[in-house]
This record gives sequence, C-alpha cells and structure tokens, in this order.
Amino acid sequence: MRIDVLTLFPAMFDGVFSSSILGKAREKEIVRLNTVNFRDYANNKHNTVDDYPYGGGGGMVLKAEPIFSAVEALTEPLAAKPRIILMCPQGEPFTQQKAEELSQEDHLVFICGHYEGYDERIREHLVTDEFSIGDYVLTGGELPAMVMIDSIVRLLPGVLGNETSAVTDSFSTGLLEYPHYTRPEQFRDWKVPDILLSGHHANIEKWRKQQALLRTLNKRPDLLESYPLTAAEKRWLEEERRKLGPSET
Ligand code: SAM
Repeated sequence: MRIDVLTLFPAMFDGVFSSSILGKAREKEIVRLNTVNFRDYANNKHNTVDDYPYGGGGGMVLKAEPIFSAVEALTEPLAAKPRIILMCPQGEPFTQQKAEELSQEDHLVFICGHYEGYDERIREHLVTDEFSIGDYVLTGGELPAMVMIDSIVRLLPGVLGNETSAVTDSFSTGLLEYPHYTRPEQFRDWKVPDILLSGHHANIEKWRKQQALLRTLNKRPDLLESYPLTAAEKRWLEEERRKLGPSET
C-alpha cells in the first residue's frame, strides 16, 4: 500500500511513522508512507496557503489551488486513481469497518486541514471521501490522519505479529473484546477465572464469547442491535438484561 499525506506540518508524522508497528510495516516494505507539504505548491510570493473568507467572519480558509496542485502532482502520473480523503469533523464517522474497507486499497491520499476550514471547491471537486474521527474539533487534520493510518496499516497482511491479533479485536467481530489475563494466577487478592486455567478450549471459547456479549451489553448496547445473535445467545442475553434491570440497559 502507498499512503501520501498532504500537511502543513510534516514533522508531526516523523515519530509516528517510524515507531512501533507502523515503523516495522515500513521497514518490511508493506506500506510506503510519504508526507507532502502543500505549502510547496503555493504559487504566490509568500507561499500563502490560506486567505480570508468571502463574506467576512473570523478564521482563515485553506485555498483551493495549492491543495489541487499537490494532489494532481501526486496522482496525474498514475493510471489508477487513489481514494482522496479529507480530514474533517463534518465527515462520515470513521469506524473499524471503514478501516477494513480502506485497507483493501492500493493507494490512499490524506488531506489534513488547518485553520477555520477548506475552500468548499476542494470538497466538491477533488476528494472522494470525508472522514471524522469523532464529534469534537481538533486544531488540524494531522492527528486524525495518524489515527486512521494506524488503524488501516495494522490490518495489512504481515503487519501484526503473533503478539497482537486484529481478528478478535473490539468492533472487528461486531462486539467488544473479552477480558484478558496473564501471569501470575493470583495477584494480590485477585485470581484469574478458573475457566482460563482449565485447558478446555471449547469451554474457554464459550466463556470468551459470553464475556464479549456481556461487555458489549454493559458498555455499548447499541452494537448489539446490528450483531447477528443466535437464538441461544438472544435467550442468554435476555436473562442477563433482566438481571441488570431496565434502567441500566
Ligand atoms: N471550522 C471547522 C468546522 O467547524 O467544521 C473545524 C476546523 S478544525 C479547527 C481544522 C481542521 O482540523 C479541519 O479542517 C480538519 O482537517 C481537522 N479536524 C478537526 N477535528 C477533526 C475531527 N474530529 N476529525 C477529522 N478531522 C478533524
């Protein structure tokens, strides 16, 4: 996969792109990560990339021209056009399902905004997708782009070693993940559940599934609305819901 990031602050990506799992994915050449400072594409004397908004009001607006020129310089030589993703609090909420979908692409281009916003023509005539990482406003699109890139790259084949697995992760299964324990068996007054020490794999799988369902019921009941529960799981969850009482679900 190739990922290009258009940003006014390329240095922000140095640590994230060269550390931990992203750094290793890069070393293994599973992903090529490239930053482009779109200020280099400003064709005015002072290299300005922003200007006052037509109609007045506070805040500066990113100009269309440097961003169009930077994207076109990257994409025009290519036969296959990449997904061009605008980071934006007004965009579609980013989810694990979207990370899975984007991890199937060969090439992604991220545009990181700053200041008050973008000239609307960027949104209308350049980008293929707009994503938000949550209902809050950050100063720029760099952190959101890093969040998205991290969650996409870790899904690429060969990126995660045995020590981490994406298959049972929260949201990948449609549920929150079950609880984990490691050594020692007894820490202070707290013991690891007996079932995990039993060596009985089928029972352990059943317990984990029930814990995942229970955790989802307690913390994110909205996820259960779209989860394909079996008849037995439905009955079991109904029982658990009754134990919780009406106010807690
Ligand atoms: N005035 C804009 C609005 O109300 O929608 C917010 C602009 S914000 C200060 C500057 C930039 O940060 C945005 O253009 C976007 O690139 C990025 N950004 C801020 N919050 C974000 C979020 N929740 N998700 C994705 N990008 C975000």
